[in-house]
Amino acid sequence: MTMRLSTEVLVIGAGPAGTAAAHWAAESGRMVVLLEKETMPRERVCGDALTPKAVGHLADMGIEVNNKNFHQHHGLRMTAHGQSIELQWPTDHDHPSHGLAIRRRSLDKLLVEHADNTGAQVWTGVEVTEPIIEHGHLRGCRAMGSGCGSGPEGEIEVRARFVIIADGPLSPFGRSLGTARTRTYAQGVAMRGYFPSPRHSEEVIESVFDLRDSTGHQLPGYGWIFPLGDGTVNTGVGLLSHHHGNDPQSIRELFDKWLLQIPEAWEVDTDGIEGEPEGGRLPMGASVRPRSGPNWVVVGDAAGSVNPFNGDGVEPALSNGRLAASVVNDAIRTGDGLELRRYEKQLVSSYDHYYRLGRLVTKALGKPGLMRRFTLLGIQSRVLTELVMRISTNLVNNDAGGTESVYEIGKVVARLIPDRD
Ligand SMILES: Cc1cc2nc3c(=O)[nH]c(=O)nc-3n(C[C@H](O)[C@H](O)[C@H](O)COP(=O)(O)OP(=O)(O)OC[C@H]3O[C@@H](n4cnc5c(N)ncnc54)[C@H](O)[C@@H]3O)c2cc1C
Repeated sequence: MTMRLSTEVLVIGAGPAGTAAAHWAAESGRMVVLLEKETMPRERVCGDALTPKAVGHLADMGIEVNNKNFHQHHGLRMTAHGQSIELQWPTDHDHPSHGLAIRRRSLDKLLVEHADNTGAQVWTGVEVTEPIIEHGHLRGCRAMGSGCGSGPEGEIEVRARFVIIADGPLSPFGRSLGTARTRTYAQGVAMRGYFPSPRHSEEVIESVFDLRDSTGHQLPGYGWIFPLGDGTVNTGVGLLSHHHGNDPQSIRELFDKWLLQIPEAWEVDTDGIEGEPEGGRLPMGASVRPRSGPNWVVVGDAAGSVNPFNGDGVEPALSNGRLAASVVNDAIRTGDGLELRRYEKQLVSSYDHYYRLGRLVTKALGKPGLMRRFTLLGIQSRVLTELVMRISTNLVNNDAGGTESVYEIGKVVARLIPDRD
C-alpha cells in the first residue's frame, strides 16, 4: 500500500544544499519534508575543506563551528614551480577568519540532524523515483523507502506546494523537469583519498599547481592536501574537464602521479590509503538552467553552482539552500508564486558576474601554455597570490580599492565578452 502525505515544502536530497534549505524553511515555520536516498552517515566524495564563507553559513544556521571535532585551518599555502606562498584567511570581512576541514560523512550527518532538530521531517533511506505531474504542474514526488533509515519502507507519495531540488551533480529529478547543463562550460573532475600523516593537525591547507600531462604540459587544475586533525589528510587532484574529458581512467592516472608529488613536508604515508580513492564531477559556474519553475527551485550541484575558480561547492550549496528557503517562504506567506522569480534574480545579482569571470578564466586556462604562464607569474608576487586567493574563495573586499579593483575591472570585462562557444 502506498503511504501518502502532504507538506508545504518538499526538499529532495540531504547534502549541504538540501539540509540548509530544509533548516531555513523549517526555521521560518514551514512544514518541511526532506527525503534522502542514503542512510546517515554516508560517504560523499569531497575534499572536505570548508572556506571561511562556508563556515559563516554554518554559524548562521546555529551550528557550533568551534566544536572540537572540527579541524580549523587559518590559511592557505599555494605552491607552484617549486615556490610556496602562505597566506592567512582574510579578516577584513563579515565571515569567520578560519576555515574547517571535516569529513563529509560527519558534516552531512550533522546537517541532517540539525534540519531535523529545527523541525523538518527528515526521511533517510527514501529514494525519490519520479515527479508527480498533473496538468503540466509539479505536485510532488513518488519515492521508495528501504526501511533502513529514518523513513518508512515501501511506496511513498509526497504532495507539496513547493519543491526544492538538491539531488546533487547528476540531478535526476531536476533533469526530469527539464534542467540541463550547458556543455560548453567547463566542468570539474576530481579524485580524493584519505591517508595517514603525522602532520594531520597542521592549521594550513595546501594547493599545489603542478599537474602535468604525459608530455609534461601543465594542466588546468591542482593537487591538494587538506589536514583533517584525525590522524589523516584528505589529498587529491582536481582538473577542468576540457582537458581530461570525462575519462575516469585519466583522473585516476593523474591521482596516482600526484601521490608521488605530494610535498614531503606532509609525510603522507601513501601506502596507508583508507580503501580506494574515489572521484566525482563538479558542475560549475552556474552551468545548469533553468534554476526555477512555477513552484520549484534547484540548488547546489543540481544547479551547477560549484565555484569555477577553486571547485568549492559546499559554500554555494549552503547559500543556495538558504536563498531557496527564503523565496519559498515568501511565496507561501504572500500566496504569490511569482516570489520564486526572486531566486533567479538574486542569484544573478550576487553570483553571475563572478561566475562569468570564473568561466572566462577557466576557459582561458584550458588553452595550452596559459596555466604555466599564469602560475609562474602568480607565485612570484605575494600581492598577486593574495588577490587570487581572495577571488577564488570569493572573499574580495570590494571597499579595499588597490589590487582588488583589478577584480572589479575583470568582472566588467567578463560582462562584455560572450562566453558561449
Ligand atoms: C573529489 C571532490 C572534491 C571536492 N572537494 C570539495 C572541497 O574540498 N570543498 C568544497 O566546498 N567542495 C568540494 N567538492 C564539491 C562538493 O562536494 C559539492 O559541491 C557539494 O557536495 C554539493 O552539495 P549538494 O548538497 O548540492 O549535493 P550533494 O552533496 O551531492 O548532495 C545531494 C544529495 O542528494 C541525494 N540524492 C540524489 N538523488 C536522490 C534521490 N533520487 N532521492 C533522494 N535523495 C537523492 C544524494 O544521496 C545526496 O545525499 C568536491 C567534489 C569532489 C567530487
